[in-house]
Amino acid sequence: MLLTINKPQVPPELLAALTNARRIVVFTGAGMSAESGIATFRDKPDSLWAKFNTREMASPDGWRKNKNRVWAWYEGRRGAVLQTEPNAGHVAIAELSATLQNLHGQPVQVDVITQNVDNLHERAGSTSVTHLHGSLFAPRCMACECPGEFIPGEPDQSLMSLDPPRCSHCNSYIRPGVVWFGEAMPQGPWRHAEDLVDICHVMLVVGTSGIVWPAAELPINAHNLGKFTAEINPAPSELAKYMKVQWTSSAATGLPALIEELKKLKP
Ligand SMILES: [Zn+2]
Repeated sequence: MLLTINKPQVPPELLAALTNARRIVVFTGAGMSAESGIATFRDKPDSLWAKFNTREMASPDGWRKNKNRVWAWYEGRRGAVLQTEPNAGHVAIAELSATLQNLHGQPVQVDVITQNVDNLHERAGSTSVTHLHGSLFAPRCMACECPGEFIPGEPDQSLMSLDPPRCSHCNSYIRPGVVWFGEAMPQGPWRHAEDLVDICHVMLVVGTSGIVWPAAELPINAHNLGKFTAEINPAPSELAKYMKVQWTSSAATGLPALIEELKKLKP
């Protein structure tokens, strides 16, 4: 029997580009979280909620119709995320800056721009994380926009209805901190992400299909600005044609291999 050891081959151009970069943007999507066991929005076979149209619930209209149901649903999602762990890909991204600094002694800034609403990059140790589509962990007041607090304790995933907390400033309802269907992306994080792309030397695109707009504009901007762009995806995405390197690998396999190869390089 032929035994094949499928060790991911790290593209040498990518190693060279990272070694020369002082600012790196890592742009991540649902594929990154999927390897931690978080189902993407559309795929979740959650029998408890099967009869509800999640696309409708995750909308301003769904919230207006039934705040308690929508809040319970998001608390269930937050509870599910808290039961998962960052995967080896999240950990590798968090180690990238220190790995490169150990190699050449120069400071390297790694900024994560994510479309994911979980907190797995932060839990893995990444310190600069920009959330384009909001976060399950950043609820805010629907009236005054002040950050809100969760009711203490573990979110109960079995509840189908739950009172949202109230704002401590104005007593309005606290809403989930994610961007809903039909809502614009928050302008602050978006502008910050555009600035990060402007000043980066390398952009890594990880685990994203490149079909969600306007988020997909960022890698295209990086390409148009002449940045070194590389995609790490299990299959080429819609963005592949804008990439200098298309590396067919999953995040949890490829990124740790990348760190391992960087550690072997001589200064
Ligand atoms: Zn308020």
